[in-house]
Amino acid sequence: MSESPKSDFIREIIAADLASGKHPKIITRFPPEPNGYLHLGHARAICLNFGIAEENAASGARCHLRFDDTNPEKEETEYVESIKADVKWLGFEWGENLFFASDYFEFYYECAVHLIKNGLAYVDEQSAEQIKETRGNLTVPGTPSPHRERTVEENLALFSKMRAGGFEEGEAVLRAKIDMASPNIVLRDPVLYRVLKASHHNTGEAWCLYPMYDFAHPLEDAHEHVTHSLCTLEFEIHRPFYDWVIENCPVPAKPRQIEFSRLNFTYTIMSKRKLLTLVKEGHVSGWDDPRMPTLSGARRRGIPAIAIRKLCEKTGITKFQGVTDIAQLEFEIRDHLNTVAPRRMAVLDPLKLVIGNLPAGQSEDIELDNHPKDPAMGTRVVKLSREVWIEADDFMEVPEKKFYRLGPGRHVRLRGGYIVKCTGFEKDASGKITQVNCEYLPGTIGADAPEGVECRAAIHWVSAEHGVEAEVRLYDRLFTVEDPDAAEGGFVTVINPDSLKSIEAWVEPALLDVEPEWNCQFERLGYFVADRVDQQPGVKAVFNRTVGLRDSWAKK
Ligand code: ATP
Ligand code: MG
Repeated sequence: MSESPKSDFIREIIAADLASGKHPKIITRFPPEPNGYLHLGHARAICLNFGIAEENAASGARCHLRFDDTNPEKEETEYVESIKADVKWLGFEWGENLFFASDYFEFYYECAVHLIKNGLAYVDEQSAEQIKETRGNLTVPGTPSPHRERTVEENLALFSKMRAGGFEEGEAVLRAKIDMASPNIVLRDPVLYRVLKASHHNTGEAWCLYPMYDFAHPLEDAHEHVTHSLCTLEFEIHRPFYDWVIENCPVPAKPRQIEFSRLNFTYTIMSKRKLLTLVKEGHVSGWDDPRMPTLSGARRRGIPAIAIRKLCEKTGITKFQGVTDIAQLEFEIRDHLNTVAPRRMAVLDPLKLVIGNLPAGQSEDIELDNHPKDPAMGTRVVKLSREVWIEADDFMEVPEKKFYRLGPGRHVRLRGGYIVKCTGFEKDASGKITQVNCEYLPGTIGADAPEGVECRAAIHWVSAEHGVEAEVRLYDRLFTVEDPDAAEGGFVTVINPDSLKSIEAWVEPALLDVEPEWNCQFERLGYFVADRVDQQPGVKAVFNRTVGLRDSWAKK
């Protein structure tokens, strides 16, 4: 990529470590827990870690994709596969560097034994509640466990018994022996291992004790010789324990943890647990529902990966926790699609326009440019016939001020084709306009309006005879409020009831044949994508609205 060099406090640290020779080669990692699909927030961590590896590729830098699958309870292979697909889609490659933290279970265990031998860990048989109660708080120091002073031999025997299944869940844990009076509560003898008689997707029934995240994570990093372990700000308070583990365990490398702020958006929730609720309770059709802030939802929505990468680049890496306006992402989407998306015509709210002086059964070829500013995108031919569909709101029986489109006696250009003059209209019993009649002005294709004819607008249209029907899904923001997490009744109570409107529309016939994930602009309407799942070329056209042409929320 030939973009301007990126800079932030983490990249400065890395550049300095390379310059000083502290690390000849940089290794980062992106360590998702496979307990859900990746979301837009993860994109920041992915772009940072893989981005740094790419930028330093000349010195052999690399980024590991490591599944942090040490917790047997919530993890599924479906998530592993979706995470891989999403990282690739975003535009990054891990190559050979695909790892599973569960492959190192034996190593964590050895480290724990090492700690015990050095008098730095002990088996505690207090209940989880007792441990919590005796941890103290910000003003009260913790109370040492009655088992804290067990001998090394005793601890080794008890830890072996834990591994052998001699304890039931909750009966025993292994704790680090650090400082029950530490001002940092994380350091008050944190739990390293707990008994869990659960089956693990990778190791099956081999283990009945599992390491805690805070213990396993630094060991995973060290085991992989990660140089810079980049994580989000909530881990800042855990850093002293991270360093303690690295200092006191027999590790082959000494990674450094550096924290940065999370990416959050307005009108969006981001925690995997909450996203799972949306899926499970059926508020959305699945993890990849185009309204979901997941990467697979964004992809299905038609959001280009590069728009997400650009957003990550522009919002940068800092220590300041802010909330990014979702409109900023929408800006990047429009900015990119405006350049690359071919133009097509579709009518979402059809009203029939009958061109009286064009004989039935006859049609004319109209050549249209595929992009107004990019001749390289070529042209296409669409048929103009006696009956065409236009948008209902492109006609007004009594035109308002500044309305320059169709009305009785008025002229408008059919995009790329003739200027037509409205000669009348028809209504049904309820007063609804059912048809507009007009006549075309010969010789006006590609030519200015004749003398005395006022024509100030062009409207899009689809031949009623040649067009095809398509299912069009109009998506809007999933939540009605800026901060759904803060909603009194919970985020579920502020779901936007109009976040999905599915309609039957008329589109140019060639749109029936496009492949899933093909993006275009429906002229005057917005950017749309052929649905990844439901579009069936030649059989069924299904389009999703990615985003409108303008920010319709800015006015609200
Ligand atoms: P969540 O809290 O949303 O469920 P998580 O942090 O539990 O996410 P992990 O699978 O542990 O999810 O995340 C993998 C990596 O992505 C971690 O290094 C984490 O710090 C980073 N990450 C997660 N959410 C964000 C975010 N909103 N912005 C930036 N990085 C994030
Ligand atoms: Mg997590």
